[in-house]
Amino acid sequence: MRVLVVEDDPDLNRQVSEALKEAGYAVDSATDGEDGHFLGDTEPYDAVILDLGLPVMDGISVLEKWRRAGRTMPVLILTARDRWSDKVAGIDAGADDYVAKPFHVEEVLARVRALVRRAGGLATNEIELGPLRLDMRSARVTVDGNPIKLTSHEYRVLEYLLHHRDRVVSRTELIEHLYDQDFDRDSNTIEVFIGRLRKKVPAELIETVRGLGYRIVPPGDG
Ligand code: CA
Repeated sequence: MRVLVVEDDPDLNRQVSEALKEAGYAVDSATDGEDGHFLGDTEPYDAVILDLGLPVMDGISVLEKWRRAGRTMPVLILTARDRWSDKVAGIDAGADDYVAKPFHVEEVLARVRALVRRAGGLATNEIELGPLRLDMRSARVTVDGNPIKLTSHEYRVLEYLLHHRDRVVSRTELIEHLYDQDFDRDSNTIEVFIGRLRKKVPAELIETVRGLGYRIVPPGDG
């Protein structure tokens, strides 16, 4: 899952971005509204964390522009604690949730998890598929109850496929959603991750659809 952080306070931006990376997300960051708007307008994010008080273009304007252009990714806004009117304006502009400053970074992580989960139509943090179980909160995966060790890249591929398990996911889509903008985007690396994943989870769970990409095959479904 790939997340954008738009926050002009460099320390806060770094703190939130690092925590998200540690939790397994690919993270891009911007420190003003114009850069943030551009990234959100041109890159496919699974969630955005958007500060409202930003230089060049304020957060509400950024959000309104995205929504007017049909950008539907989940957006969590960061507001000042005592400004209730900001929360109302943000939600009216199309925000999905908010966190008031100062916050504990764990709260931001929990809310981002919930937004990503809901966007994937999931009610809980756990995805179960036959013998496979993935817990998004702990980023842990088990097969038949036995924990399996995945690298962060392997985990991201598996989590993304499971979130979109009713359809074929192309290599390009995986690359766009799993890596930040600075990553070397070689589509062969995806094949390598899929190959390694098939050695760790039941191989028949991940089907290669020639020329199109990959699809999760629920057990007993072919
Ligand atoms: Ca700010």
